[in-house]
Amino acid sequence: MQVLIAELQKLQNTDVLLGDSISEKYQHDWSADAPGIPGAVVRPSTTRALSEVLALCHGLDQSVVVQGGLTGLTGGGIPKSGEIAINLERMTGIEELDRDAMTMTVKAGTPLQVIQEAADEAGFIFPLDLGARGTCNIGGNISTNAGGNQVLRFGMTRNLVMGLEAVMADGTVISSMNKMLKNNAGYDLKHLFIGTEGTLGIVARAVLRLFPKAGSRCTALLALEKFDDVVSLMHKLTAEFSGNLSAFEVMWESYFHFITDNVDTIDSPLEQRYPLYVLTELEGSNPEKDQELFENTLAAAMEEGLVVDALIANSEKDREGFWKIRDGVGEISAFIRDSANFDISVPISSMSAFLEQVEKEVVEAVPKAKIMVFGHIADSNLHFLCHSGSHDDVKAMYDVVYKVVGDFNGSVSAEHGIGVQKIKYLHHSRNPEEIALMKTLKLALDPKGILNHGRVLPD
Ligand SMILES: Cc1cc2nc3c(=O)[nH]c(=O)nc-3n(C[C@H](O)[C@H](O)[C@H](O)COP(=O)(O)OP(=O)(O)OC[C@H]3O[C@@H](n4cnc5c(N)ncnc54)[C@H](O)[C@@H]3O)c2cc1C
Repeated sequence: MQVLIAELQKLQNTDVLLGDSISEKYQHDWSADAPGIPGAVVRPSTTRALSEVLALCHGLDQSVVVQGGLTGLTGGGIPKSGEIAINLERMTGIEELDRDAMTMTVKAGTPLQVIQEAADEAGFIFPLDLGARGTCNIGGNISTNAGGNQVLRFGMTRNLVMGLEAVMADGTVISSMNKMLKNNAGYDLKHLFIGTEGTLGIVARAVLRLFPKAGSRCTALLALEKFDDVVSLMHKLTAEFSGNLSAFEVMWESYFHFITDNVDTIDSPLEQRYPLYVLTELEGSNPEKDQELFENTLAAAMEEGLVVDALIANSEKDREGFWKIRDGVGEISAFIRDSANFDISVPISSMSAFLEQVEKEVVEAVPKAKIMVFGHIADSNLHFLCHSGSHDDVKAMYDVVYKVVGDFNGSVSAEHGIGVQKIKYLHHSRNPEEIALMKTLKLALDPKGILNHGRVLPD
């Protein structure tokens, strides 16, 4: 590695951190996985410099791990022994905002929040939004195909990327900085790098889609008696709001009451307790008409008996109060340690049966286990956590839940990716032929296996 480091130090527009200058932040992500110290942290500031770094590493068979903002939850950016970390934090900045094409061209290390704010200042929105917005980078978002709060209306990150530039394992630059919504000229190569978690190439720049700002927003917190009513309500709101339903977050009582009972700063605005809660939003362009439609639709849902209690936000403060309950998930770790945390998908039609089966099998395996559930639902995504008070039970809970996910044809990763943590569970969601094709692609694009080895794919 010494020869390589000497060569890397000679490159322009790249700096190399060694020894004590590799601070703790380069050693871990937000997963609970053990940290790792890389042989060096290499920080290029241009695509060309990134390409030169990879060409040198490839020539000397040096394995690398790619790092964005390191907010990942599956251990993908944590250095393994003997690896060099390529960190993109110096490849940052907005290169262009094209009002006519409604696109923004950015470097991969740009924090998501910087992009959101620049879009806002120009009168647009960039609709990708997640709790880690201040720290995660767009390159990390693209390589994990991040989901977040607005998937229902705008899709995952994949839908928001028009073009990108990536550097392959041997340093070859693939520049596909497309700005056109329609472009069927051969393979759409950007998809090789979206959601592949840095295993096929490193995202260096991207062309992102912008959207007009919404002119109105209506928010409500609803209480329901049973899951079938949740599904009927979701279909009703989808039909009535004609494409303007922007949030449909479901919280089971186990989650809702845990947060409102335990977190000092978060209270339930409803007087009674119910089995299920829905936080819903409509975003449109006509404040008066939209508010009327929102209120009338919810009143009809109450008359039909789908909704048993409802509060409509009358101010931004009300809205923030509702969202605080949903975002209170970040507070759980102060009360519960040693939990198994899930980010899974199952078809909506089997969600209710799935949850029943999970509860049954988890409690059979770990009698003291408790489950807390919430999710975006409309995009099939459920988040939940299982805990028993004992660290020794965590693995058993993961094993049982992922097996049941497989039984219901679900996905072991709805949005956070596979990283290192979920490799052993990938077979529950992908068949042998799919995994073999993924390995064929990996071998074709990175024959020496130097890029993020040991992430996503089993050996
Ligand atoms: C509080 C919180 C809330 C979150 N909410 C959500 C959510 O709602 N939805 C969601 O999907 N995720 C969520 N996440 C997970 C995480 O923020 C996302 O996965 C995010 O996209 C990761 O971006 P990052 O820049 O931090 O990537 P990192 O953690 O640095 O890297 C993630 C993976 O991508 C690879 N990678 C990073 N940059 C590049 C690049 N330029 N080219 C190629 N590969 C690269 C890394 O090697 C690693 O495998 C949340 C995390 C936290 C801490």
